[in-house]
Amino acid sequence: MSKQPSRGSTSRKDEKSDKCANCSKSVGEKEMGIQCEICSGLFHSKCVDISAEVYSFMEKNKNVHWYCDSCNKGVACVTEEVSKLKLRQDLMDQSLKEMRSEIEELKIGLECGPMPNLMVALPNIGGALCSTPQSLADAHY
Ligand SMILES: [Zn+2]
Ligand SMILES: [Zn+2]
Repeated sequence: MSKQPSRGSTSRKDEKSDKCANCSKSVGEKEMGIQCEICSGLFHSKCVDISAEVYSFMEKNKNVHWYCDSCNKGVACVTEEVSKLKLRQDLMDQSLKEMRSEIEELKIGLECGPMPNLMVALPNIGGALCSTPQSLADAHY
């Protein structure tokens, strides 16, 4: 009596949730089934291009969210934006580093502040020394 195969409402419910929304074939227990968090649709991992590696990763990390293709269309642009932002941040980090090194260079330049002036002034002094050896000698005496 109790071993009778169930044909009630429970099997109908199972039937629905066991079928892959992509290929309409049932997702066996040993198959890697993945459920969309938005529409609760079930998919074979291979039907949605999820590798065994990714699947096991998602199994271990319950905080990893997965959305099916049709639901993903809305999410995709968000993730795209996020990756764009990340890229922008990377670029900003890079330019910040560059700026920092430039500032360091400037600091070094400021520390040796008189140097560039000296470089400009030296030829003049040299010229003055060369052109007026007489006056210098006179001043010395
Ligand atoms: Zn499938
Ligand atoms: Zn979905």
